[in-house]
Amino acid sequence: MLSVKDAESIVLNLAPSPYSQRDVETVDLLAASGRILAAPVTSSLDFPYWDNSAMDGYAVRFADVENCTDKKPIALDIIEEIPAGYQPQKTLQSMQAARIFTGGVMPPGADTVVMQEETRREGDRVFILVSPSKPQAFVRQKGAFYRSGMPLLNPGTTIDAPEIAVLATAQCVRVPVYRRVRAVIFSTGDELISPEETLTAGKLVDSNQYALTALLAKMGVKVIRLGIIPDKKEVLTEAISRAVSEADIVLSTGGVSVGEYDYVENILAELGGKIHVRSVAIKPGKPLTVAEFKRDSKSECLYFGLPGNPVSALVCCWRFVVPAVRKMSGMGEENWGPEFVQARSKAELRSDGKRETYVWGKLNLVAGVWQFEPASGSQNSANLINLVNTTGLAVLPAAAETWIWVGEFVQVLKIS
Ligand code: AMP
Ligand code: MG
Repeated sequence: MLSVKDAESIVLNLAPSPYSQRDVETVDLLAASGRILAAPVTSSLDFPYWDNSAMDGYAVRFADVENCTDKKPIALDIIEEIPAGYQPQKTLQSMQAARIFTGGVMPPGADTVVMQEETRREGDRVFILVSPSKPQAFVRQKGAFYRSGMPLLNPGTTIDAPEIAVLATAQCVRVPVYRRVRAVIFSTGDELISPEETLTAGKLVDSNQYALTALLAKMGVKVIRLGIIPDKKEVLTEAISRAVSEADIVLSTGGVSVGEYDYVENILAELGGKIHVRSVAIKPGKPLTVAEFKRDSKSECLYFGLPGNPVSALVCCWRFVVPAVRKMSGMGEENWGPEFVQARSKAELRSDGKRETYVWGKLNLVAGVWQFEPASGSQNSANLINLVNTTGLAVLPAAAETWIWVGEFVQVLKIS
């Protein structure tokens, strides 16, 4: 049985990063939202594009007004009005000013803006009542935020609203992104029916397929669902064979324990998969099985045989699958996660130390301190009911019996 740490590094090593050009596609600006940037973006433009005013006011020469006060205002002749979007036509000479508005381009000869509130207008003259703090006051200088040719966005960046704004500003309207990860998801088990079917004696509604699909779809993964596959070796072989030929990643649930009908591991081996993980010292989630299928030198499939119990399946996904998918999506390593925080426990937590134990519950930031409250009711891997609103998994280490008292700190995996 592998430790969680070892299983994690095996899984992350196996998860392929997107390969070169084959895995890159170019999409329109807004379609890039939520995708991962696949190539560096630079711009030949400075930003701001030109010196411009940060205020509604007057463009002046600092030397003309540096000594004025409201008792000794200085009068300047207004030679031009510069609204946003207008190209100044005149050069400012000594004792002249230009009326300027926020975003207006600074006229040649001017080096400072005085805000409107610190002036008094009389016809074609303006009185400056307060001396500016320094030359360039309220001027947004060309290139102050970004110099042309410098890196603007790096590959691996997740494109969200701020990145869309930057891409638009750089006039990058076709954006290179990594193609979406393709997942095949299915459930195994003769007891399973789909949520639409009528429940009959002994049956159980398949919830895993829906939970896992929702989780991966939220991460931008393209999911193909194969439905419910019965515990029949030939049918299961066909499903697994199809899945590993089509997908970058396969998630199946059930059939990985030691029962008579748990065929998954044998089928994976028979189909040429290399099994890297057979079981992990994690609770819940012990039977997790991970195999690698190589299709050719540049294409492979990572297979996760997840336990059937709904909580076990999700815990394994949060702990192992999510970081692997992030890597496969092309995200930078610093964002693969999982993210852990130290949180004060609001209840006593116990484990026998035989396996690394994950307790589900709510993680909240209260007055700057993380607090963890385990879900009330049974912490049983079949109890998907009290899994709702889970935002954290407290981690109790393997190897020693652990007892966390109320108010003590515990490591918690954040679930976003
Ligand atoms: P297994 O790993 O196949 O032995 O399944 C373990 C437990 O999880 C059994 O009680 C199953 O009924 C339950 N289970 C298996 N698959 C699912 C599923 N897709 N949705 C909900 N529960 C499941
Ligand atoms: Mg089963």
